[in-house]
Amino acid sequence: MPIRLPFRPRPESSRSDLWTHCPGCGEMVYNKQLEKNQRVCPKCGHHFRLRVDARLGSLLDGDTFDEHDAGLESLDPLGFVDMKPYPEKIEEQKTKTGIRDAAVWGFGSIAGRRVAICAMDFAFMGGSMGSVVGEKVTRAAEAALAERIPLIVISTSGGARMQEGTLALMQLVKTCAAVERLRQAGVPYVSVMSDPTTGGVFASFAALGDVNLAEPNALIGFAGARVAAGTTGDELPEGFQRSEFLFRHGFVDQVVPRPELRDTLIELLRYLQARPPRNTHHEPAGRNGRERHDAFEAAADVESIRG
Ligand SMILES: [Zn+2]
Repeated sequence: MPIRLPFRPRPESSRSDLWTHCPGCGEMVYNKQLEKNQRVCPKCGHHFRLRVDARLGSLLDGDTFDEHDAGLESLDPLGFVDMKPYPEKIEEQKTKTGIRDAAVWGFGSIAGRRVAICAMDFAFMGGSMGSVVGEKVTRAAEAALAERIPLIVISTSGGARMQEGTLALMQLVKTCAAVERLRQAGVPYVSVMSDPTTGGVFASFAALGDVNLAEPNALIGFAGARVAAGTTGDELPEGFQRSEFLFRHGFVDQVVPRPELRDTLIELLRYLQARPPRNTHHEPAGRNGRERHDAFEAAADVESIRG
């Protein structure tokens, strides 16, 4: 996978640890075997987290990834300092992970079909969403809209990046607006949630796919279990924030084991075609009659609830 990572870390083979302990079955798994198996435990099927280059490599046709906006980096307009200044932390993470922020986007092909694709990487500050992640998701959506090709986003995130404060929270609105414009234009968007997809990422673009897929046993939800239980004052069912539970309750459309993800996307992309563009001479984009009707009904509903 020729994704050009400017700060590529040491190759796997130079690491001294050859074995990984699997939290699923408690067995030691040989790292090379794990990598070959897309980081799914060959003994119990536990899904380990996948780095962004391996993720793109596992989904796209070979050599088709064309990264965009690789140079986007976070600024520090708040002058945020916790244990250390935010810019120092960013530099540290860049060196550690080989990427400039927690998301990478570009164009690529899946079984010959051109897509805009954005993948997140948990290794970079817990996949937290600051202005760079939000901007990349948004630009991927805008590019998909401009070309009328499907958008695919693979999420893994602990939520909004606290070091960017309100600027991070604003990414929720921005990304939601971007995928809403796709919906209005009838351009397909497939969201893939991997472990974990939580906080502001779950609360924005990750849950808004035309089709929402999830990897097995991924932690998916807004707040942590203890906070959720404290807020609702209820004891919550076991595993209520896992893919399978969310699938049973209609929040996730399909739970897809990683080795089947590419084939599932190929199949979905066969069904999901972008709607032919409408004649926009008489009406501003995305404001056709049907949507006006929807907007009217939504307003009417609010009134009847209030009344
Ligand atoms: Zn295992």
